[in-house]
Amino acid sequence: MIVTNMDRTQCMALLRASRLARLACVKDGRPYLVPVTYAPDGDNLYGFSLLGQKVEWMRGNPQVCVQVDSFEGEREWRSVVAHGRYEELPDLVGWKVERERAWSLLSKEAHWWEPGAFKPVPEPPTHRIFYRIVVEEVSGRHAFPEGTAGGGVPR
Ligand SMILES: Cc1cc2nc3c(=O)[nH]c(=O)nc-3n(C[C@H](O)[C@H](O)[C@H](O)COP(=O)(O)OP(=O)(O)OC[C@H]3O[C@@H](n4cnc5c(N)ncnc54)[C@H](O)[C@@H]3O)c2cc1C
Repeated sequence: MIVTNMDRTQCMALLRASRLARLACVKDGRPYLVPVTYAPDGDNLYGFSLLGQKVEWMRGNPQVCVQVDSFEGEREWRSVVAHGRYEELPDLVGWKVERERAWSLLSKEAHWWEPGAFKPVPEPPTHRIFYRIVVEEVSGRHAFPEGTAGGGVPR
């Protein structure tokens, strides 16, 4: 197997082609990682959530890490790790355009709100949050079998 580094263009291409990431945040040196869906736009990953641990932790420390991967075959994969900044898009007058942008990007997928809108105990509508992760640094690895060009189709 060959493992190569992906450049920023390749990393951003995988981030833009994916919709599901693992999002990690940290509080008091303690990491917390959850799967989230997102809508990519340029260097931003837009998301929707209810108020909870991850949002509270990201409000306290906006430095986050996002990981996305794809598997193109039994022995071919791509993985991207992105460091970035959490930015909340509050329901305030000055943020209307950004919130509508998040809504329009996310709503390209059917049932887009469902993964972020349900908790074991129902929450009040006031706890609905739009946010974006501004990607600052990326690194990526691409693995493929020796003797192939590594051009498999993501699945
Ligand atoms: C495929 C997929 C897509 C998802 N997409 C989104 C999305 O777009 N937006 C979104 O907000 N959420 C999404 N979720 C749910 C997300 O993973 C969290 O469960 C959810 O956001 C609640 O996180 P919280 O920090 O607010 O938890 P809280 O309700 O505050 O609960 C915190 C506690 O519950 C535990 N917990 C929370 N979530 C999980 C989990 N997933 N697995 C195990 N333990 C957990 C924590 O360890 C912690 O102890 C998705 C889940 C999956 C599987």
